Amino acid sequence: MKSNRIRIEKSAILRYFYVGSMSVIILVTVLLSSIYTRSLGEEYTRKIKQLSGGIINEKKRFLRNAVERTIYLIEDERAELRYQNVGKNLSEEEIESLCIERVSRHIRNLRLIDDGYIWVNRIINYDGGDRYGRVQIHPSMPQREGTWVSTNMTDIRGNRPYEDELNGVKKDGEVYFEYYFKKINSEEIAHKLSFAKLYKPYDWIIASGVYLDDVDQLIESETRKMRRTYERHKNNSFSISLLALLLSVAVMVFFERQISRLMLSYEDEIEIYTSRLELFSITDSLTGLYNRFRLDDVFLYEVEQAQRYKRSVSLILLDLDKFKSVNDNHGHQVGDQVIREIARILKESTRVVDTVGRWGGEEFLVICAETTLEGAGILADKIRVSVEENDFPVVGSVTCSFGVSSFHPGDNEASMICRADVALYFAKENGRNRVCFEEL
Ligand code: GH3
Ligand code: MG
Ligand code: MG
Repeated sequence: MKSNRIRIEKSAILRYFYVGSMSVIILVTVLLSSIYTRSLGEEYTRKIKQLSGGIINEKKRFLRNAVERTIYLIEDERAELRYQNVGKNLSEEEIESLCIERVSRHIRNLRLIDDGYIWVNRIINYDGGDRYGRVQIHPSMPQREGTWVSTNMTDIRGNRPYEDELNGVKKDGEVYFEYYFKKINSEEIAHKLSFAKLYKPYDWIIASGVYLDDVDQLIESETRKMRRTYERHKNNSFSISLLALLLSVAVMVFFERQISRLMLSYEDEIEIYTSRLELFSITDSLTGLYNRFRLDDVFLYEVEQAQRYKRSVSLILLDLDKFKSVNDNHGHQVGDQVIREIARILKESTRVVDTVGRWGGEEFLVICAETTLEGAGILADKIRVSVEENDFPVVGSVTCSFGVSSFHPGDNEASMICRADVALYFAKENGRNRVCFEEL
């Protein structure tokens, strides 16, 4: 019963141990791998932004440079023409139209790298609208020169590049803007970045544009690359997590075994202590015979057996004769010695199936299973003779008186004891050192 209870507790402890440790391990693994993959994703996004930002800034510098160089060229041309005019007396309009002609030629001949191009629109109405300006110079699409431009024009994504351009130059004098147009001499739609600057003396918007397809492609290919690497890392982290989980389970199983072994040794120890305690609880400490507690148990069992299976069981109750005088004459320790000696004789005189115990002070009880009254009488007399003939140290001779009773249907423990006690009384009354039988 006891060890069973311990086993149940052990299984509960193991359940808590497994569930607890597994939950903690899984939680930590999931948390760490999710932190890792998240930071990986963030790092890649940052890298791509950095990369594309760098390229776009480079393109912006290139565009600004092209436009500002053109403006510088116009200024230079105007100053040159005015200088050359000294002594020629050309009118202001003639000088300006000459300048526009020369600048236009120059711009048409400009070749920018990376498919970049430059164009000039002239603002006629700063408020915008369908005919807010005209294409002044367009080297890559000369057929457009002289055509109207409208701020209401939209690209395929709904952007209004001319409106953005006009508003930007009106506000800050210059502006960067993005839009989607067909590529020159192609049906392909391209993402473009432009820079425009107002040249107020001519009401010109001088603009330069480049394609952003390369940036878009770069972002796309980098994103693809990133996704592949990200997936690989995610798989790796999953494998590592799985490995960590398996390792943890192995460690857990190892520790569980150690703990179980420890528990088992505790169980063994507890069992040893329990059996010792059990032995103590049924043993008489002076003689090593069964005590009264155990005798009661055995007696109850034997009476039940006799009742059920119609078996015989007999009792021998014995008491030392004139024992008080032993104590008085030789002291308690000698008395104890005599009691121990009697116990030894009882043990030696009885069979294994008989139960011998100390009933009280110097009284003993022998429960004789499967034994008739006559049989028990013979055993009692055998014991009596053995005691009488034994040479007790210090004391010399000691005798005992015996009362014997036997089971009769309807008997219980008390009635049998009572009859043995009465018989013992008779033995004492009739001169001691004798065996008397029950009287019914
Ligand atoms: P009787 O023949 O009538 O039995 O005389 P008795 O002196 O033996 O009288 P009784 O049985 O009434 O006395 C029992 C005595 O046994 C009393 C007590 O001092 C002694 N005694 C009981 N238990 C022990 C024990 O454990 N050790 C010792 N040394 N003496 C005990
Ligand atoms: Mg007595
Ligand atoms: Mg006595």
